[in-house]
Amino acid sequence: MSTWQDDAENDLVLNAGRRLALLTRGEGSYLWDADGTRHLDFLAGIAVTSLGHAHPVFVDAVSTQAATLAHVSNYFATPPQLALAARLKRLAGAGIDGRVFFSNSGAEANEAAFKLARLHGGASRPRIIALENGFHGRTMGSLALTAKSSMRAPFEPMPGGVEHIPATIEALEAAMDDRVAAVIVEPIQGEAGVVELPDGYLQAARSLTLTHGALLIVDEIQTGAGRTGAWFGFSHEGITPDAITLAKGIGGGFPIGALVTYGAASSLFTPGSHGSTFGGNPLATAVADAVLAEIERAGLVDNAARRGQELREIITGLGSPLVAGVRGRGLLIGVELSAPVAGDVVGAAQAHGLIVNAANPETVRIAPALTIGDAELAEFHDLFAAALADVSASLTDSGKAHA
Ligand SMILES: *Cc1c(COP(=O)(O)O)cnc(C)c1O
Repeated sequence: MSTWQDDAENDLVLNAGRRLALLTRGEGSYLWDADGTRHLDFLAGIAVTSLGHAHPVFVDAVSTQAATLAHVSNYFATPPQLALAARLKRLAGAGIDGRVFFSNSGAEANEAAFKLARLHGGASRPRIIALENGFHGRTMGSLALTAKSSMRAPFEPMPGGVEHIPATIEALEAAMDDRVAAVIVEPIQGEAGVVELPDGYLQAARSLTLTHGALLIVDEIQTGAGRTGAWFGFSHEGITPDAITLAKGIGGGFPIGALVTYGAASSLFTPGSHGSTFGGNPLATAVADAVLAEIERAGLVDNAARRGQELREIITGLGSPLVAGVRGRGLLIGVELSAPVAGDVVGAAQAHGLIVNAANPETVRIAPALTIGDAELAEFHDLFAAALADVSASLTDSGKAHA
């Protein structure tokens, strides 16, 4: 008889490594696998399940809207779509003249942003500036924006015009001219290992793009929806961008993405210039609107700030020689390790019933639901300490490190 691992290997394309478990159920910050083992979920599907699993608000929004109206074409508007657009404009400070395009994923939101940049730039502004180590998705346009050449190489040629520059204000100053259509940045580079931008970077990018007439596009797909302890990563910096892209946490587990545009950038798309069959359907938008309403109602943005602070104190307080530092903001945290053993730490954590992720060999990424409280933090403390201790012990045994 074939195991679920065999099925996964034989029936799913080979784009992912070996799956870690066969998950069957979730509730709050806990997941259960087919063997009945309980896992503490401090990854939240990579910053997606903002409210945790099977939250009553999420369940009710999905079932009520599914029983009311799930899909119509974009020839029609629906109340949930309009409600979500208005809410996103308000939360993102997009003002009365802001507008929203709905997609089904982060990559598609960035595809829309890419087309926005082209519409803005035309033939006289062929350049698009993105950052080294940046990640913007896997579709061709979003992949062109993504820095990692190993991800892009097998799929060359890329859509043209994108240049990747170091994430320093000096590099941006040197790169800017009047042929730049847009600068796209993540406020915190999530996939790169939760790497923050230098102090003052977004303000500098805002003033340089204004000077040169380029759009400033902020990819908030991982940092948005309250994750960093503010509604969006850019909210910490007191700037107004020309566009932001959203996905992951705004749907709480339902697939949805969005491009929010500000000011003049809001008039660039014209009838026929872009579209998506599923984008903005009443089911997805009703769920995202309910998720964001619950984040507002329950004060989960503040909870993310407060629990994020507690979490980083817990991690540094462990005093593990393996922990070299803690990066990130709110509940998007990168634990910097003193050795390239993030994979081992993730494996040891899983053996103890804790789900975290290795963003790169030196960084463990932690991104729990925004709803976590004392109980989850206390359990995390014990499980993460045990995982670090296991890896430290095995390193000492094998003499691989002198930790
Ligand atoms: C996850 C992510 C994307 C891609 O989103 P998908 O929904 O996987 O297409 C783009 N940008 C950032 C910053 C992300 O974290």
